[in-house]
Amino acid sequence: MHMPIVAFLGLGAIGTPMARHLARVDWGLRVWNRTAVRASEFATKHAAHGVTHATTPAAAARGADVVITCFPVSSDVESLLDGPDGVLAGLARGATLVDCTSGDPATSKRIAARLAERGVGYLDAPVSGGVLGAEGGTLTVMVGGDSATLEKVRPVLEAFGKKIVHCGAIGTGDAVKAVNNALLAMHLWSTAEGLATLTSAGVDPAVALDVINTSSGRSNASMNLFPERVLTRAFPRTFRLALLDKDVGIAAQVAREQRIPSPLIQLTAELYQAAHRALGEEADHVEVVKWVEQLTGTVIEKR
Ligand code: NDP
Repeated sequence: MHMPIVAFLGLGAIGTPMARHLARVDWGLRVWNRTAVRASEFATKHAAHGVTHATTPAAAARGADVVITCFPVSSDVESLLDGPDGVLAGLARGATLVDCTSGDPATSKRIAARLAERGVGYLDAPVSGGVLGAEGGTLTVMVGGDSATLEKVRPVLEAFGKKIVHCGAIGTGDAVKAVNNALLAMHLWSTAEGLATLTSAGVDPAVALDVINTSSGRSNASMNLFPERVLTRAFPRTFRLALLDKDVGIAAQVAREQRIPSPLIQLTAELYQAAHRALGEEADHVEVVKWVEQLTGTVIEKR
C-alpha cells in the first residue's frame, strides 16, 4: 500500500487522541470537526507532520484512501453522507470508510450498502480502552466487515489500536462493543449496589473492595473505577453516561432482534435511561454511582 491519505472526522474526547497517533505518521492527515476551531487548532499543532484541516466533510474525504469517523451515534455518520458538503461528495471509488463510532449494526449495514453502490468499502470499527487507551495507542479495535478491506486499512488502524479483532460481517463490531459496554454498565451498577449495602451495614467500602478485588466478585469497575474515581470522589469526565446509555440501548435492541431472553440487559437499559435523564448530557458514566447513592441514601467514599 502506498502512503495512504487519511481523513479523520470527529475530534471528540476519544477521537482527538486517536487522531493524534495518526498525526505522528507522515501520511497526509486531514481533520474535520463540527466545531471548526477544534480541527484548525489540531492542524496547527501538528502542522510539522503535514496535518491540515478541512472545512467540510466532503473536502476532508476528497482524494482520501481512508476516512475515519468517530461520532456519538451511527445516525450522526449517516447524516454527514449527503449533500454537496457530505462525505459521499468527496469519496472516490476504492476508498474505505472506517467508522469508529460505537454504532448500531442496522445503521452500519445501511451505510455500508450505500457506499458499496459507489465502490467504497466500509468497516464498523468501534474501539475500547477509553481515553487513556487512546492516548497510549493501546485501544482494542473490533471490526465488522470484509477481511480483505480490513487488511487494506490495517496499518492505519494500528496507529491507534494495539489489538485489532475481526469479529465477522458488517455490524458485528458494533454488536460486540455494545454487549461489552452493557457488561460494564452492569458491573458499575451492581458494584455500586453491593458497596451501598455494605456501607450501610457499617463496612468501610475500601475494606470491602480490598476483599472483592482478590475474590470472585471483582471486575474492572471494582478494581479500577471505584478505587480511583468513586472512593476519591474524583469522578473525572472521560466517557459520557449518555454514550453508555446509548450503548446499552443498542445491546438491548440486538438481543431483542435475536429473540433471545435477555432480562438483565433490558433492565440495565432501563436503569441507564433513567440515570441519564436524571444526571444529564454531560455527566460521566461513573457518575451513575451517584444516582445509586441517591436511591440508597448512602455515600461510597473513603473513611
Ligand atoms: P464526544 O461527545 O466527546 O465527541 C463527539 C464528537 O462528535 C465531537 O467531535 C462532536 O463535535 C462530534 N459530533 C457530535 N454530534 C455530531 C453531529 N451531529 N454531527 C457532526 N459531529 C458531531 O464523544 P466521544 O469522543 O467520547 O465518543 C465518540 C464515540 O466513541 C462514541 O460512539 C462513544 O460511545 C465511543 N467511545 C468513547 C469512549 C470514551 O472513553 N470517551 C471509549 C470508547 C468508545 P463538536 O466538537 O462540534 O461537539
